[in-house]
Amino acid sequence: MAKRVGVIGGGQLARMMTPPAINLGIELKVLAEAENSSAVMATTMVGDYTQFEVVAEFAKTVDVITFDHEHVPLEVLRKLEEAGVSVQPPSRALAFAQNKLEMRARLSALGLPMPIWAAISSAAELQEFLNDNGGVCILKTPIGGYDGKGVRVINTIEDAADWLEPAMLGSVGGSLLAEEKVNFSRELAQLSARTPSGEFATWPLVQTVQANGVCSEVMSPAPGADQATLERAAEIARGVADGLGVTGVLAVELFETPNGRLLINELAMRPHNSGHFSIEGSTTSQFEQHLRAVLDLPLGSTAPTQSHSVMVNLLGVDDKHDFVSSYEQVLAQHPSANVHTYGKAPRAGRKMGHVTVVGQSSADVLAEARATAQALLQG
Ligand code: ADP
Repeated sequence: MAKRVGVIGGGQLARMMTPPAINLGIELKVLAEAENSSAVMATTMVGDYTQFEVVAEFAKTVDVITFDHEHVPLEVLRKLEEAGVSVQPPSRALAFAQNKLEMRARLSALGLPMPIWAAISSAAELQEFLNDNGGVCILKTPIGGYDGKGVRVINTIEDAADWLEPAMLGSVGGSLLAEEKVNFSRELAQLSARTPSGEFATWPLVQTVQANGVCSEVMSPAPGADQATLERAAEIARGVADGLGVTGVLAVELFETPNGRLLINELAMRPHNSGHFSIEGSTTSQFEQHLRAVLDLPLGSTAPTQSHSVMVNLLGVDDKHDFVSSYEQVLAQHPSANVHTYGKAPRAGRKMGHVTVVGQSSADVLAEARATAQALLQG
């Protein structure tokens, strides 16, 4: 009988799990939040993922529950687990992806490298942290942030006045996360996958470029990274995956400092934007690997298909441009570019799709990926 994977959330990540599910003969089912979600082709149920009854009904139709996002309440997942449902990654791991303060505390206990950090719940504590860290810090809401929302540069406590209001503090669990402002030379991401049995695999370390807090480009492998850096990044990912009990795909976002240190910024326990290149750039894509991992199947090879891959995101320009209606000319002019669209309603800044180009010359693939994305943006 076919194995059945249930994905909570109907976004582009669930959508991109569809082709490998078809290839492997896995029945993919999606609990989407709306009728016309990005993963409409695999949607078998529409409902509110915060309601235990809804998720439990969905869980009855599959062998394992996994995720397109990290927002399913932990109480819902714990109840499912108590009822014997396989949830991958399990709630005890997801707790660290849902709360940045808990993540920092756990990674500190594991001795993994991170920016200096503290839990802040008053103006006095924030002032003390500023004094100790050169008069500037990054302040984050521990829950609910994404794509740079919930992240602020703080120079004086007035910059955080609204976040220190009791109502705001209460809504995020009582404390904020303060971090030293890292003077990083670039941002990197280490993608990996782990099965419940403990098999573990990494892809090559990638460089990510952010614009306004949103990922805009990914280069695989990270240009100029030496062997020691590659090994350290893979070890960090292994330490996180084993230490937190993560299953499925894990993305560890890293800062590289000018003297070559790697510091953990963020974790994502699901396929991640930094791994979209793997659809064409790796023998096994992150989406296939995630399905294999959550089903505890053997993992596939993460060897690159070509020496270089570049992915450029297609971010919405307005509420009309959908990157599909007028792309004929672009497809004709850029036949070696892999164009992906997510079927989402257009909105400025929204992730609408991406372009990946793979090849033997890093300069050529970068130029071609950028040119294709630029042409699609204008099309
Ligand atoms: P989100 O969860 O919204 O993606 P992140 O924690 O990844 O938020 O932060 C968004 C961006 O803010 C990062 O990609 C990085 O550019 C910047 N940033 C976050 N933390 C720090 C830090 N400690 N020092 C310097 N820059 C940071």
